[in-house]
Amino acid sequence: MMHPAVPAPSTALTRAVPEAALEPAPEAKPASAPAAKAPPKSPAQKALEKLGLHRPIDLALHLPLRYEDETRLTPLAGAREGEIVQFEGQVTHSEIFIRSRRQLLVTVDDGTGSCVLRFLNFYPSHQKTLSVGAQIRVRGELRGGFFGREMVHPSFRLAGGELPGALTPVYPTSAGLPQIYLRKAVLSGLERADLEETIPTPFLSNGPFAGGGPQGLFSLREALQFLHHPTPDVALATLENHSHPAWQRLKAEELLAQQLSQLQARRVRAAMRAPAFKGKAGRGAGGALQDQLLERLPFRLTAAQKRVGKDIEADLKKNVPMHRLLQGDVGAGKTVVAALAAARCIDAGWQCALMAPTEILAEQHFSKLISWLEPLGIKTARLTGSQKPKERREMLALIESGAAGLVIGTHAVIQAKVKFKNLALAIIDEQHRFGVAQRLALRSKMTHVSIQAPFGANLEEVTPLPNEFYPPEGGRFKPEFGFDESQEPHLLMMTATPIPRTLAMSYYADLDVSTLDELPPGRTPVVTKVVNDARRDEVVARIQAQIAEGRQIYWVCPLIEESESMDLANATQTHEDLSAALPGVGVGLLHSRMAAAEKKAVMALFTEGVMGVLVSTTVIEVGVDVPNASLMVIEHAERFGLSQLHQLRGRVGRGAAASACVLLYSTGDAPRLGEVARARLKAMVETNDGFEIARRDLEIRGPGEFLGARQSGAAMLRFADLAQDAPLLAWAREVAPLMLDQYPELAQRHIQRWLGGKAEFLKA
Ligand code: ADP
Ligand code: MG
Repeated sequence: MMHPAVPAPSTALTRAVPEAALEPAPEAKPASAPAAKAPPKSPAQKALEKLGLHRPIDLALHLPLRYEDETRLTPLAGAREGEIVQFEGQVTHSEIFIRSRRQLLVTVDDGTGSCVLRFLNFYPSHQKTLSVGAQIRVRGELRGGFFGREMVHPSFRLAGGELPGALTPVYPTSAGLPQIYLRKAVLSGLERADLEETIPTPFLSNGPFAGGGPQGLFSLREALQFLHHPTPDVALATLENHSHPAWQRLKAEELLAQQLSQLQARRVRAAMRAPAFKGKAGRGAGGALQDQLLERLPFRLTAAQKRVGKDIEADLKKNVPMHRLLQGDVGAGKTVVAALAAARCIDAGWQCALMAPTEILAEQHFSKLISWLEPLGIKTARLTGSQKPKERREMLALIESGAAGLVIGTHAVIQAKVKFKNLALAIIDEQHRFGVAQRLALRSKMTHVSIQAPFGANLEEVTPLPNEFYPPEGGRFKPEFGFDESQEPHLLMMTATPIPRTLAMSYYADLDVSTLDELPPGRTPVVTKVVNDARRDEVVARIQAQIAEGRQIYWVCPLIEESESMDLANATQTHEDLSAALPGVGVGLLHSRMAAAEKKAVMALFTEGVMGVLVSTTVIEVGVDVPNASLMVIEHAERFGLSQLHQLRGRVGRGAAASACVLLYSTGDAPRLGEVARARLKAMVETNDGFEIARRDLEIRGPGEFLGARQSGAAMLRFADLAQDAPLLAWAREVAPLMLDQYPELAQRHIQRWLGGKAEFLKA
């Protein structure tokens, strides 16, 4: 071992906390203990579980936020105010003092100087320990106070006894979980956890670990012991910025676990079977539906659309399920790519399903695809939540009999009653709009792998896919492989929220990605302006000018009703105001509480140009396509997320007319906008490029939030930072396939240790 054994930490000083609040750390139950009644969980135990600290290894991996140095004593004479100081001295005076409230004042002298300890909450036991003549050890922040130098609520104990040899950890915690309890629990976890090495030694001699690194190589056990209880001589900065070799080791472990699980998911999928489409696609294949569709389109495909089409065609010819993400900026033309894939699928004799996150979007796809595909003799079925039972029954029959080649709908598509005759291609539009848990349910149904609910994920809201959705023959679960041998459909996911490269490499290693990096010709870049809400009248004047030119306008508001807590613009009110300000102009209103039929009617009036202005909440956010709309006003733009703003802006600039986006902001009572909001609005003005927007969004929010980890309740990467740890990520990417091949058992142990129940979750 290259490192001196880390000294065991001594018990930390006690704070003035009533004893009853401190409960012993939970002990591992002996295996022989009767499985009778489980004792009720204490609040602290519940709090531990809420933090996700279930297994000993979870506790061992719960690392300190910072450290307290209790290893030294400082003479009071040499101590400075504002510093955290620990000293030993004798109590020379103790009194209860009543000044606005009752307080205990204790004077302590260490021979070089003295200091007053002030307690606003105290118990008789404290008074006893702090009686005149007692020798005590005190730790707290030294301040200049009313009574001279003082410490308010310092920690203390009787003097003497050895000083701890290591820094004292301070852990991230939550209400109801005292630091002392957590320290004990972590220590016990550290002792009980299996910390045997899982990374084979040969892998730890290359990349960032070549030559053992400057301070020698830490084993997992050494790294954890060090990080929980570092020796006092450590440069604290290297712990804080995670550059210390012990941190490097942990981050490498974490990244490797993630790469292993992704790679494994990819391999499981590669072993599954899907229908390989026969025949030729596109150009020159005679009567191919794809060719007919291409001929009917009012435009020519962009080079990017052609390239992506080839990627998809190559996948569909294989007997392995496609798992492809099609990313392309708003307006890049993903729908036609989906339609071409659908035509290919139907031509090969299979059914295709297209799922969209909202009814409006499903409706829009439906009318567009019907206009493209029905003239080619393809029957299309529609499924939405708001459908009348009779219509629904008819649709279900079309789908079950196979008469409908294409099925388009919302989540209704994945409900239990939907039985496909022979589904072979599933397309998910705006896939980022489906919750992590929903995508997970979808994936798990597709692969027939049983899943554990990730910590915090709300799976109750998910409608799982029925088995019938998948293999026509009915699926069989083969535990030894964890996948089903019968056929799976191909999966194409589409998103307008592009994934920055580093994220694609790490979180989506399990996906093939195609990118539409080119907009269809004839688009004019949208000019974006940030305008203070006080200048609203000018914006309305501009609307008038646009209307006079025959253009249409979107006006987006964040909420439909005034809530008590937030003074948000009310879409209904704005609708009234604009109607009054724009006499003779059709002003429509669209919000999420409206019935689906009503929404559909309003949308139709706007699409047909009957309405000049559409006031709406964010329901128009995804996918809506009205090329004549050339002005987008977003009210309270400071409250929107960056990618949401970008998506909204993408609704304009779809026709030939010069288009603009006005971001109205209000600072409320504050003199200026907050920093994050400013950064977002600035990014919107500076760039129209979805990839650049995504990159800045990542910068502003960090990867966890970017991926919606908050929504899932489980952080994706706890320790590694993709921007900072590129070399470690490169190492993990290199090592993962080798480890999976050469050390499959160690690889499984490694994944389990790090991801536990979250391994499946990461695949979603
Ligand atoms: P998104 O990628 O945001 O889903 P859409 O598929 O809705 O974009 O396409 C945006 C608009 O561009 C639609 O009106 C579509 O018909 C049109 N479009 C798509 N591809 C082309 C192309 N190659 N040339 C011209 N217009 C196109
Ligand atoms: Mg779209």
